[in-house]
Amino acid sequence: MASSNASTLSASLKLNRCLYRSSLPCFSNFKTCCWSSGSWYSGHANPRIIWSSSCHLKSTQDVTSFGNSRFVFKCVGRALEPSVSIDSSQNNSASDERVVVLVIGGGGREHALCFALQRSPSCEAVFCAPGNAGISSSGDATCVPDLDVLDSTSVISFCRKQGIGLVVVGPEAPLVSGLANDLVKAGIPTFGPSSEAAALEGSKNFMKNLCDKYGIPTAKYKTFTDPSSAKLYIKEQGAPIVVKADGLAAGKGVIVAMTVEEAYEAVDSMLVEGVFGSAGCKVIIEEYLEGEEASFFALVDGENAIALESAQDHKRVGDGDTGPNTGGMGAYSPAPILTQELQSIVMQSIILPTVKGMAAEGCKFVGVLYAGLMIEKKSGMPKLIEYNVRFGDPECQVLMVRLESDLVQVLLSACRGELSRVTLDWSPGSAMVVVMASNGYPGTYEKGSVIQNLEEAELVAPSVKIFHAGTAFDSDGNFVATGGRVLGVTAKGRNLEEAHERAYQAVEAVNWPGGFYRHDIGWRALPKRQFAKQN
Ligand code: AMP
Repeated sequence: MASSNASTLSASLKLNRCLYRSSLPCFSNFKTCCWSSGSWYSGHANPRIIWSSSCHLKSTQDVTSFGNSRFVFKCVGRALEPSVSIDSSQNNSASDERVVVLVIGGGGREHALCFALQRSPSCEAVFCAPGNAGISSSGDATCVPDLDVLDSTSVISFCRKQGIGLVVVGPEAPLVSGLANDLVKAGIPTFGPSSEAAALEGSKNFMKNLCDKYGIPTAKYKTFTDPSSAKLYIKEQGAPIVVKADGLAAGKGVIVAMTVEEAYEAVDSMLVEGVFGSAGCKVIIEEYLEGEEASFFALVDGENAIALESAQDHKRVGDGDTGPNTGGMGAYSPAPILTQELQSIVMQSIILPTVKGMAAEGCKFVGVLYAGLMIEKKSGMPKLIEYNVRFGDPECQVLMVRLESDLVQVLLSACRGELSRVTLDWSPGSAMVVVMASNGYPGTYEKGSVIQNLEEAELVAPSVKIFHAGTAFDSDGNFVATGGRVLGVTAKGRNLEEAHERAYQAVEAVNWPGGFYRHDIGWRALPKRQFAKQN
């Protein structure tokens, strides 16, 4: 078994700090991907929240932009915990606090976050950077397309100017590049982990070592940099077996090899040919787990964690879970596979030991822990496959329409280390999101096709909400598709059947010849007759 002491963890973190930087270009495409109109930012906000002078940024020199100096790794945790400074003249109790929020990102997940934040009683206003055309036109946030979210200095200065009292970071790229570190350092309450804590997603080796050290159930594994040793281990273990690149490899770094030869090929491609660059210069060879996959989400404040409702997505592009993997073609909540009993086992055996372990390593995690699990066939028990350090997309969409608590207060509690006092309220029924994607996705797809009838589609059934992931306006004011996954057509219902019925009614009302969708979202959880009706 690979060694798993603190020095290994810290060494792996150091390496990954460098690996993260290779993921930056993806995020810097946000602007070009998500933005076409120029009139979203109204500049309006009327904050009643102010910063205490102790939190003030003294000068811009105090801010280390992500572009320099964090190569030297040190797990500082959240030592610079912000005091969320409320204007004391108003004698605010938590529920009176009115906060201006900035959401970072511009996809469907961020649209859903804006929607839930905007609805929060304690929300004064929501900004979203860069946002997208749909977020802006729905009124769920004021979009700020020209704020460079990878430039911490600009983001901090925007926050100061607009009196932002909470920043919620959606995607992983700005997290791994250290945006949360800089915002927290500047005294701005930020929901999202530091770059060091984001290693839970950025390095599989780091995650596995943590599991090893803190007794978190996961597949048996060993880490290699030498191809011959890796192959010897594969020969000893036999197939099926799983080969994983250590770092972020755009979702392509995991090979589930059904034969030893396939596993050898994966090792060669990563360690010899270097197809994933530095992300694949270390490989994890892992025991093959057989069972059903499930996702589990928890909010974490550094020391405590609370579970979110269960949700399940569909990764494959085609009906019947066929075709290549995607970012997610639909989701539903709750997910029957995650029984109450199982959820409690996951909290006790996986989430809480992770949170405690990260704190013990001096690397407190604040944000969403999104655990990819395998419910093993042979034992019925959950094992951790992977961690993500942000909300899943599209699971976030179904969770946000079901959340009834004041999200602003919940996330501020996480930033303040006060989640142990929080309980979450959820609508009692179910929710489903059906993703509409551009023809060709996840391969090459066309951009610029016109989407019509969106407003009408939202009205075809009760409780329908369409979240935009990749839309812009054309010169005639039409919505056009600018990305792969473009819309998340979401509906609530008294049960999953009703949510399904409503979501598909709305999908069918959208007039978009350039797009497609899966017809069987929820099939594992729905009665067979309902699934049959769709086909
Ligand atoms: P990951 O990026 O680690 O979540 O892996 C991507 C996908 O590979 C997972 O969603 C699983 O379907 C599959 N996978 C990863 N690890 C294992 C494993 N140890 N056993 C079986 N399948 C796995």
